[in-house]
Amino acid sequence: LLSKLPDVGVSIFTQMTLLAQETGAINLAQGFPDYDPPQELLEALAQHARTPGHHQYAPMPGLPRLREAIAAQIGRLHADAPVPDPATEITVTAGATEALYAVLAAVVRPGDEVLVFEPAYDLYGPAIRLQGGVPRYVRLPAPHFRPDWEAVRRVVSPRTRLVLVNTPHNPSGAVFTADDWNEPGPPAVRHRCPGAQRRSVRAPRVRRDAPHERPPAPELRERSFVLSSFGKTYHATGWKVGYCIAPPALTAEVRRVHQFLTFAVSTPTQHALADVLEADTADAHARGLAQFYQEKRDAFRNLLEGAGWELLPVPGGYFQLARYDAFSPQKDLAFAQFLAREKGVAVVPVSAFYHDGFDEGLIRFCFAKQPSTLTEAAARLR
Ligand code: GLN
Repeated sequence: LLSKLPDVGVSIFTQMTLLAQETGAINLAQGFPDYDPPQELLEALAQHARTPGHHQYAPMPGLPRLREAIAAQIGRLHADAPVPDPATEITVTAGATEALYAVLAAVVRPGDEVLVFEPAYDLYGPAIRLQGGVPRYVRLPAPHFRPDWEAVRRVVSPRTRLVLVNTPHNPSGAVFTADDWNEPGPPAVRHRCPGAQRRSVRAPRVRRDAPHERPPAPELRERSFVLSSFGKTYHATGWKVGYCIAPPALTAEVRRVHQFLTFAVSTPTQHALADVLEADTADAHARGLAQFYQEKRDAFRNLLEGAGWELLPVPGGYFQLARYDAFSPQKDLAFAQFLAREKGVAVVPVSAFYHDGFDEGLIRFCFAKQPSTLTEAAARLR
């Protein structure tokens, strides 16, 4: 069989998790919490699992009560933003990953170009290529990983169909600012692209020191897909429930793909998420996430201070990038393997986030971990 993705192997996240299991290393590689979702969510799931009638297909676009709860919370948390219509603008997907794939499949035609900021999550390039699209890469420079809009303008062409924006950015934690959304790049892109995409824009996983700006311009909103995931906001990456928000015409296209990709997402998990989003505690949970991760970030950075690691700034997300040249001249993959095997901490080499394997000696730690895990990992890293 002639492979459609001959250059793609097992993802780096799976590889490093396997290495952690093999070596017994603490897994700060794959991005997932080592703590459980809130107790109310687990109880809600248990209750719905026992409820007769909650075990057949959910409606294709998602349970109406979950879509309504998502819209209502957006209305409460973002008073300045228009509230999406649950009937025509919200689609529940199997995580943000499925949403991203459905958007690309819905929008990208053979030969279309998709602008990708690198470092980039490893799914983007292959998913674009499977549609016959051409990823066009723009590099975000360390240590701040801010977009260079001049470079963007040079790459945007009449063939540009979509711009992928990941904020807070994986792996760097960079956060798009109001300026990034406003000028000078997005307007240049705006009049050419039928669809621009932003990801996790509403996820409140961001520190207080980096306000989470959204694109204010209505004309950009009209051509945007916003993808988010409960895996991140409710510490439940294994549930695989996310959603896509887009204007009705774009939502209709996403649903055409979604109905044949997964058809619908598991019913009891959607009920459980709707329960917690409808509860009085929902907004406190969402607003508390910034503080929750800020504390983890600061604790982890303090534990590593003075040990020789160069810790890059982390405005958002739950990853910490570090330069290790004080310890070793090795390539990042070799160094990551050494850390897992010899020091008992698994990490991700940042070269895995570049299509051409660009390697500037950076590794990524996930700090979405319990204090005891971070303490033990830092002791080993010191
Ligand atoms: N998003 C996660 C990360 O960046 C990985 C998810 C996965 O392993 N597919 O680590």
